[in-house]
Amino acid sequence: MTEHAARAFVLDRRPHREQDLRVTLLTEHGARVDAVALNAQRSKRRFMGALTPLALYRVRYTTTARATRLDEALVEQVWPGLARGLRSQTAALAATGIVRAVAEPAPHDGALFLLLGELYTAAAASDDRDALAARLVRFAFEVLDHTGHAVALDRCVRCDTPAPDGARVTVDPHLGGVVCRGCGGGAYAMSAADRADLRAVRAGDYARGRAEMLRWTARIIEGVSVDAAGSIAGVVDHFDPR
Ligand SMILES: [Zn+2]
Repeated sequence: MTEHAARAFVLDRRPHREQDLRVTLLTEHGARVDAVALNAQRSKRRFMGALTPLALYRVRYTTTARATRLDEALVEQVWPGLARGLRSQTAALAATGIVRAVAEPAPHDGALFLLLGELYTAAAASDDRDALAARLVRFAFEVLDHTGHAVALDRCVRCDTPAPDGARVTVDPHLGGVVCRGCGGGAYAMSAADRADLRAVRAGDYARGRAEMLRWTARIIEGVSVDAAGSIAGVVDHFDPR
């Protein structure tokens, strides 16, 4: 039996048996922890905030050979802007879903934890759909970078040949980016303008963000995780209905 203490985000929570909750946490050390919180549907004292996502908790949990038990969760930080703005909340929940889909059980590094906190802060500060989309697009690419699924938009993933800036290219989500014609091409054609905008946002130029960019991001990410792509697709429908 080992006891742990860490700051953590709740990535998911669902009822378990009559009074318990099952939660998925992301700790500050980069581990995805699946734990059972006994009597959590009733005890608001041990589990402040009822373990809802979009807050930062300080948790204590115990691991045994068979299971992980959440002993306590205290709210350390909330983002009121996420409760006020529906778009902000949608973006933050999608980011949470992306992390849930790709985070690894074993401690990795603290990057995902830091990225998610930054995303919550940025999302809470704006209700503009293009600004939120820009944040979410960059977040998604950074999460992929940190989990070993970096997407190549500047060169062919197979032969490493640079793609000229003004060129229309094709992308294969399962191969992780641009695939040149000589290497067989990819399923989706991406215009030079779309690619330039995506690369700019990815590099931190948020002013280039547009809600429709989320469609491309969902498509590219589908090759890595269908669940993560689904999280983004939910935002697309909300921000950019067609
Ligand atoms: Zn190639």
